[in-house]
Amino acid sequence: MEDDSWQGLLKRSLKSPEEIARFFDLDPEKVKKIARHFRVQITPYYAGLIKAKGDALYRQVVPDAAELEEHDGAADPLNEDDDSPVPSVVHRYPDRVLFLVSHLCASYCRFCTRKRKVGDPNQIHPRFIEDGVDYIRAHPEVRDVVISGGDPLMLSDRRLEHILKLLREIPHVEILRLGTRMPCYLPARITPELAAMLKKYHPLYVNVHFNHPDEITEESARALNLLADAGIPLGNQAVLLKGVNDDPAVMKRLMQKLLTVRVRPYYIYQADCVKGTAHFRTTVEKGIEIMQALRGWTSGMAVPYYVIDAPGGGGKIPIVPNYLHSVSDEQVVLRNYAGELFVYPQVRPKKEKRQRIAPCAAAPPQS
Ligand SMILES: *Cc1c(COP(=O)(O)O)cnc(C)c1O
Ligand code: SF4
Repeated sequence: MEDDSWQGLLKRSLKSPEEIARFFDLDPEKVKKIARHFRVQITPYYAGLIKAKGDALYRQVVPDAAELEEHDGAADPLNEDDDSPVPSVVHRYPDRVLFLVSHLCASYCRFCTRKRKVGDPNQIHPRFIEDGVDYIRAHPEVRDVVISGGDPLMLSDRRLEHILKLLREIPHVEILRLGTRMPCYLPARITPELAAMLKKYHPLYVNVHFNHPDEITEESARALNLLADAGIPLGNQAVLLKGVNDDPAVMKRLMQKLLTVRVRPYYIYQADCVKGTAHFRTTVEKGIEIMQALRGWTSGMAVPYYVIDAPGGGGKIPIVPNYLHSVSDEQVVLRNYAGELFVYPQVRPKKEKRQRIAPCAAAPPQS
């Protein structure tokens, strides 16, 4: 009998270059070459969702020769390594950290921002986890820990619970967040046991990663439902990708479908300037066009923030279509979602009382 546990399904993933080449009718030598730069793996579940060569799901996981092309991308465009006090922690913002606990993923996104680390056990290693917890414990300003990787749900329930328990014992850690692509790549990973375990560590948030409406299936809905029923607020972080979701209609459908499975869209990321991912990048104007096609045209709940993670390590910067036509002391002219102009009158500032200013002669000498 076949092992249908998540571990069994994961084991049957397509991972050798030969298997991948055979399955997708590619040149095995080329796949081998690409896999040397960034690991290739596709779960049988996700491979089964691909309908045609080159479609939106295919492009996300099947290696492409364009990954080998030289361009101006960087290995670490966000300068995360400079903000890493210990290898498993990125501390960039005042009150929260990114905690990398697994180098593995169920499938490898060809556009991954953390390609330099993901898939490499020397970059994100269990022995760094203890250092990460120690760092967080020693830094009382850290009130929010984003547990990521790789995919933290590649760890067993037991190992993940060990980490959650250690973090929960730190009094200044108010909230925990998990970032995972499992409900998309391997929904079987979300078991009732996992949901029951996570529930013990509230307040815990889970951010998932769906990029296309076809990824929201009955199986992924089941997985998300288990998490939501455990009281876990769910958010989605999508990446704007050429040939995948760089189309306002596709993005709108994705956001609407996420709400039907109780996931609140959180971010749309502009694709980072990562080496070997130039073929996925779109213009920023495309992102703005998509945001304009969302706001007002569908539920406000379906509208996430569109952000650019600033190259060099400036953090996430929101990009908003311009709805402010003009501002004066008398009025603000606004543009609504359909492009019509409206006037909002400003409150009149009270006549300021003239301040009594001491005569110049009484002022202290300037130098
Ligand atoms: C994205 C990110 C966070 C979390 O940012 P939020 O805007 O609070 O979701 C924290 N640290 C780093 C380094 C990040 O890249
Ligand atoms: S699931 Fe996340 S960490 Fe893993 S390859 Fe995709 S983007 Fe990278």
